[in-house]
Amino acid sequence: MLWRRLNAALLCAALGGCAHLPTPEGPPGPSKRDALYLDAEPAPSLLIEIDRVEGTAPRPRALATFLTRVERYLDKPEGIRLVVDDVIPVEEWQEGHGKIRALARRYRSVQAKAPEHTAVLHMIYAPRMGNYRGYCWSRKDYSDTVAPHDEALVLLLQGNIKPILWITGAKQEASVLIHELGHALGLSSNPGHSYKGHCTKAHCLMYDGVDVRTFLLYFFPTLLAGHLPLDYCSHCRADLYPGHDGKAPGDR
Ligand SMILES: [Zn+2]
Ligand SMILES: [Zn+2]
Repeated sequence: MLWRRLNAALLCAALGGCAHLPTPEGPPGPSKRDALYLDAEPAPSLLIEIDRVEGTAPRPRALATFLTRVERYLDKPEGIRLVVDDVIPVEEWQEGHGKIRALARRYRSVQAKAPEHTAVLHMIYAPRMGNYRGYCWSRKDYSDTVAPHDEALVLLLQGNIKPILWITGAKQEASVLIHELGHALGLSSNPGHSYKGHCTKAHCLMYDGVDVRTFLLYFFPTLLAGHLPLDYCSHCRADLYPGHDGKAPGDR
């Protein structure tokens, strides 16, 4: 009984708990790409602003892992900077999409200071929102209210990340951050291999579901080595880098 419960807990820890805005279904076609983040031509540098609600704090090892993936996936020859910025008083954190987006607008500070040709990714560390561990609004989700070059917003809900055995909080946090970055880049909108906003390939970091495939693929590696997926699958990479045989800038 305990063993079975542990299985379920591990799988939930490894794979559950991300949300994103629903993607309209349509005929097979290329995924939406966010060129501002991906390509050097519109923005040769990237600034990542992290604001955190009082009581939460980014795990340094999670940020380090996240940054190595950002450097690999994005073409930013003029550099990537990460700034841990404001502490948001805990009483200002209220669940609810409208309230969270309004809070993000109040605390975004690097937007105004960012030099031209710099893409900005805004992340907020917060305690909880439902059962989610992460959440992302892409730049396109802002289009009705803000300028076209506004940044994506990623939430990391630290209160829902529970270290289990070898699967440390830092590993889970890094995995969630890279997954949400994938949403910010426009991944999982290609109907050829996506369903309801997530990749249908069970070994992909953009997969979101617990079924027999993920059980077989992940249970033993997760249990024995604390392995968590930290990469996008070849189909997702083909969506991101169609002109480069699916090779990320850091792999060319
Ligand atoms: Zn997701
Ligand atoms: Zn994928």
